[in-house]
Amino acid sequence: MFPEIIAGVAAAGAAGGVFAYGAAAAKSQLFGTTFFGAPGASKQIALTYDDGPNDPWTGKLLDVLDKHSVRATFFLIGKYVEMRPEIARAVAQRGHVVGNHTFSHPNLIFTSQNALRGELERTEAVITQAIGQHSRLFRPPFGARRPATLRVARAIGLEPILWSVKCWDWTAPSADYIVEKARQRIRGGDVVLLHDGGHVAFGAGRGHTVEASDELIRRYKGEGYEFVTVPEMQTALVP
Ligand SMILES: [Zn+2]
Repeated sequence: MFPEIIAGVAAAGAAGGVFAYGAAAAKSQLFGTTFFGAPGASKQIALTYDDGPNDPWTGKLLDVLDKHSVRATFFLIGKYVEMRPEIARAVAQRGHVVGNHTFSHPNLIFTSQNALRGELERTEAVITQAIGQHSRLFRPPFGARRPATLRVARAIGLEPILWSVKCWDWTAPSADYIVEKARQRIRGGDVVLLHDGGHVAFGAGRGHTVEASDELIRRYKGEGYEFVTVPEMQTALVP
């Protein structure tokens, strides 16, 4: 996992920066416009879930989202979709947006352009086979990218999506920890990074993330926030 390098909003633009910064910092715009929300701009929140489909946690998360009538955005790993297409289908059928998170979750800093194209196209194919039409959104594993990564993705019509808030849910000792990390960062207009699966292996425990999602939605709805998908947030920002 990359260290937390980011602090300010799009600080890289002024920095002119070192390669490692631009490659790994989710808010860096050094390598082209990459959507990560518009922190502070609205009372919308886009929850995003990476590394699924996963069992049983994706299903439990879908129940929580349904309970609150919230739609989210899921970035699926192709090899897991191939294993369990019915879970991917459930995500789509319950109204969530589905995007591409590569086939095997490689670190794209060390992936050739040909290999990346293969990862993306193979994932598009398995997602299409599982659920049919879906979004053209793509989230690079680890948030890592370089100019070639963005070129390859855009060449096949995929749009890179990063985040403005991460909650460290992959190492969190409790749901409260995740909620607290989110509360420290959320300002409205945020894309929030969470995980319903784990890239290391299928079946990763995500009970804390599911519980934290329930709590975050309850709290922020109570404060007048609206939960939207990434495309809905983009439309609201640029009507
Ligand atoms: Zn991931």
